[in-house]
Amino acid sequence: MNDREIVEKLEELKQQLEFFQELGVDFLVRSSEPIRPAKIETQELIRLETLEAGQMDKEAEWEKLTSQILNCRFCPLFKTRTQAVPGEGNRKAQLMFVGEAPGRDEDLQGRPFVGRAGQLLTKIIQAMGFERNQVYIANVIKCRPPENRTPRPDEVKVCSPYLIKQINLIKPKVIVALGKVAAEFLLPTTRSMSELRGNFGEYRGIPVMPTFHPSYLIRNEGNKEIKKMVWEDMKKVLKLLGS
Ligand code: URA
Repeated sequence: MNDREIVEKLEELKQQLEFFQELGVDFLVRSSEPIRPAKIETQELIRLETLEAGQMDKEAEWEKLTSQILNCRFCPLFKTRTQAVPGEGNRKAQLMFVGEAPGRDEDLQGRPFVGRAGQLLTKIIQAMGFERNQVYIANVIKCRPPENRTPRPDEVKVCSPYLIKQINLIKPKVIVALGKVAAEFLLPTTRSMSELRGNFGEYRGIPVMPTFHPSYLIRNEGNKEIKKMVWEDMKKVLKLLGS
């Protein structure tokens, strides 16, 4: 690493620490222990790998599902997309994040949450002690709605089998619903995000924590209370995961 790269890295770390501080992450100062990623249940993974006779089938199911999503033409969004965005991450993740729909950057790259909101989500995931590749990240809608408009109910309906299949394959221990579209899909409700956030609901037996969408945090950048609320919600998720 040359001097410039070291300075850049330090600046990046400084920004990360400032962000943690803004969130109200307190374990950085309280603990003399190194920060560990939330415990990955290795035994559990090995058990699944050895006991799950259908393991290879599961891989095949993922392949099929991904191909279906990438080639989907069930709603008019296929006409305006650059590419569909299936989702990414650990297919055996205990923790899954579900957002609304791909935006411009996601549509161009074919990956979820890689734009500005995605960078913020990545920081939140890291503040929780995980890396992006330890969790699974997906959206309710797999193709970008024009001008990033809110997906229409008929689009959600047509696209929903893909997310349902992903959840069934992953079987996460907990899902974080980012924003209203994800929350309304997973926990049919008409309540506002302010009312919903912070309390676990349930999707087919899986605890779901609704919280504010990272884009909402960006739109309300000056409002530190919102960031703190999101962090309170994530602490509840970590507690449920036993971290
Ligand atoms: N917003 C979302 O809801 N999903 C993405 O993938 C990106 C931005």
